[in-house]
Amino acid sequence: MTGGPDEFDLIATLFAPLSRGFPGALDLTDDAALMQVPAGEELVVTVDAMVAGVHFLADDPADLVARKLIRVNLSDLAAKGAAPVGVLLAAAFPAGVTADWLGRFAAGLGEDLAHFGIALIGGDTVATPGPLTLSLTAFGRVPVGSALLRRGARAGDDIWVSGSLGDGALGLLAAQAALPDLGADDNAWLADRYRLPRPRTNVGPNLIGMAHAGMDISDGLVQDLGHLCRASGLAAEIEAARLPLSRAAARALEFNQTRLASVLEGGDDYELLFTAAPGRASDIAALGERTGVALTRIGRMVPGSGVSVLAADGSRIETGRGGWRHFRG
Ligand code: ADP
Ligand code: MG
Repeated sequence: MTGGPDEFDLIATLFAPLSRGFPGALDLTDDAALMQVPAGEELVVTVDAMVAGVHFLADDPADLVARKLIRVNLSDLAAKGAAPVGVLLAAAFPAGVTADWLGRFAAGLGEDLAHFGIALIGGDTVATPGPLTLSLTAFGRVPVGSALLRRGARAGDDIWVSGSLGDGALGLLAAQAALPDLGADDNAWLADRYRLPRPRTNVGPNLIGMAHAGMDISDGLVQDLGHLCRASGLAAEIEAARLPLSRAAARALEFNQTRLASVLEGGDDYELLFTAAPGRASDIAALGERTGVALTRIGRMVPGSGVSVLAADGSRIETGRGGWRHFRG
């Protein structure tokens, strides 16, 4: 921000307390933060930006906006197998932002920073004539050379996902009151999944040495798996019957099978997608038990290109253009 006591008040009162426990943040009183990297480890760095009216609504609860901003970044770190360390926040506030909004935003940041055991280590605060814009940079660490990459998959690998699929996209519909055939409890559960992703930070680092490739699913399984296939120079075959569904999503599909499109192509799931040698299956199942996060084998990597989704009878389900249908012949 171009000077002014407001900016410094904001940093000192709302943001500096969120840097506690991280000495290198220097209480947010210096030009930059200092970060130590233990010998044998390297940093994994990612950034995500959110714009009011595009990635969240101006009247969304400020604490949830903050928590989602943190969580989408931590999901990227988990996908690389990285343990989160700290975050930088660049915030561009329009003139109309209120002290109340800022207080709730900082409270949401604080809640999730504590939950994930990390600190706010710096940032920048500016004024904007445009919509409220937030950019968060997250730092994690992995043993050198061990990060899970999209390009690491091998032919014959099993394909795994964490948690359940489709809850993000169905949750957006629930939040828009567009699932009227579903009960209030299911609607509330799904809407919460959309508003507050569960980054799999306890799973990701444990996949190092077990998985060959990893990424997180933010733009829908089929599209994101397609990226992993391209990066690895392989194809993927998915069995639709194996896709893990929450109870709410399963009920939503019972009422209307076309909602399978949300499971295959819907965004905002923030689950992990990874591949591993078939011999690792029992280790991965044990990891799921240990962390309480469902880990489900949904298919395999094969030579070729592209993503095929197979129905129970072995026929191919064609995806794309927002719908799905069986391939005839
Ligand atoms: P400079 O003008 O040198 O860039 P600033 O006055 O912008 O420094 O920032 C002062 C301190 O406050 C720095 O430590 C910076 O990291 C921190 N800071 C500023 N804005 C934020 C923010 N939105 N979140 C976290 N820390 C911030
Ligand atoms: Mg500055």
